[in-house]
Amino acid sequence: MAVGIKLNPAQAEENMTGYKPPFSKQEAIIEANRCLFCFDAPCIMACPTGIDIPSFIKKIASGSPVASARTILRANPLGASCAQVCPTNVLCEGACVVLTREGDPVKIGRLQRYATDHVYSNHIDVLEAPAEKSGKKVAIIGSGPAGLGCAAELAQLGHEAVIFEKEELPGGLNTYGIAYYKMTPAISLGEIEMIKGLGVEIRCGVQVGIDISTSQLKEDFDAVFLGIGLGKSHQLNVPGEDLPEVIDALDFIAQIHSDPLHEVPVGDNVAVIGCGNTAIDALTQSKRLGANITTIIYRRGETDMPAYDFEFDLAKTDGGEFLFHTLLKEVVANDEGRVSSLVLQKSQPGPNGRPEAIAGSEFSFPCDMVLKAVGSKKQVEMLSSLFPDMEMNANGTVKLDPATGQTSVEKVFCGGDCANGGREVVNAVAEGIKGARGIHSYLSGASAESPVQPSRLGVDGAPSGSGFINPIRVTEQ
Ligand SMILES: Cc1cc2nc3c(=O)[nH]c(=O)nc-3n(C[C@H](O)[C@H](O)[C@H](O)COP(=O)(O)OP(=O)(O)OC[C@H]3O[C@@H](n4cnc5c(N)ncnc54)[C@H](O)[C@@H]3O)c2cc1C
Repeated sequence: MAVGIKLNPAQAEENMTGYKPPFSKQEAIIEANRCLFCFDAPCIMACPTGIDIPSFIKKIASGSPVASARTILRANPLGASCAQVCPTNVLCEGACVVLTREGDPVKIGRLQRYATDHVYSNHIDVLEAPAEKSGKKVAIIGSGPAGLGCAAELAQLGHEAVIFEKEELPGGLNTYGIAYYKMTPAISLGEIEMIKGLGVEIRCGVQVGIDISTSQLKEDFDAVFLGIGLGKSHQLNVPGEDLPEVIDALDFIAQIHSDPLHEVPVGDNVAVIGCGNTAIDALTQSKRLGANITTIIYRRGETDMPAYDFEFDLAKTDGGEFLFHTLLKEVVANDEGRVSSLVLQKSQPGPNGRPEAIAGSEFSFPCDMVLKAVGSKKQVEMLSSLFPDMEMNANGTVKLDPATGQTSVEKVFCGGDCANGGREVVNAVAEGIKGARGIHSYLSGASAESPVQPSRLGVDGAPSGSGFINPIRVTEQ
């Protein structure tokens, strides 16, 4: 057993593609005609960015993919990546009336991909910024979906938006974190080019707090939007955690997005600790890169796991194995200092519901690589160094006005994972747009109660009054 390169380039590429293949024109038109074009459509209510789904589908049915893409991208400038990464089963497609009638929803995500692919592959710009500018400048910290959603909306409202990004490439987790077989970094980067076409400037390799201070930003800009996302995975706090083959699942996934696929080393026998969506992504990608055995180790039961059902099904289809009610006690090294096994122990729910070890149930489990995926840390330290006076919620997220995204710090707005605790790309985009509209009202001197451009988006990012809240993705395990 050893960690190393398992596949040749062609095998690696093949294993990582074909998850949800694009529709041909004919397939798209047939699928679009399954839509009932509901009045007060529940799918719109279920979309945090409130895309007018029946309208864009109607335009595909009538052979107008450009008009369709315009409808999508005006509501959600990251509509192309959302088409590929959104958990549509629990959002728009989960609310589709055709699902109730026929047991199979209209494939809204794939139709959205058809329309957005059409404009990107034909280099057709469907968004535009007004010629007349407001003269106001906004600094955005972080180029993830929240920062990009905010920047695109600000540009369309006539403001200058400058994004500061610490990484080499923009996009945040959209570029570095989404499972490769769902969406490649190229899609994310292509979409960002379109946003740059609105006049948005992105300065990569600039870490706010190190390379430029927040006081400088507040001095040079009329407002600031904070979209720094979440941090690394939590520690396991077990002996052997510092061995070289014990890796943060987020770093492993980022490497898949940075290096050639076939050059990413994996173990023969990979153990993933945790059972959220990130754990599932780590398992499926290590399997597709050639791991022989991949096993999720989870201290609670199958019904408790935070991962979506469809992600669980995908992991099983990929040959993933699951050890439920199992605690990790230790990572054991061989004589060469390499991971060789785990000490595990069976668990059961204690009186307070927390998993408790069952005495005498320890066992050894062979393994040569461990991926840590037990929830992402909130960036409490970074936030308090950037904005020492910023009010925080008890759970480590940024406290803000839910209607406008305004924080307790003058001029500073916020959205995305660092405010919501970790949801989906589409929630971060919706919150970025909401923040942009809050900033627009702030810069225009309108009150939050009567914003200049009323937001369709309610407290949770979903359209006002929908009552729809999609689940939290990142759950402490
Ligand atoms: C492994 C994984 C898989 C996921 N898969 C999906 C999926 O399939 N579908 C889905 O909808 N959602 C998915 N998500 C969730 C989704 O990626 C996030 O909800 C979304 O990216 C949050 O956007 P954000 O802009 O708030 O943060 P991020 O995407 O994390 O972006 C924050 C950005 O801020 C930058 N930054 C941080 N600090 C600074 C600083 N001081 N100065 C400058 N820049 C800074 C970071 O480098 C980063 O680029 C996944 C998440 C993970 C972890």
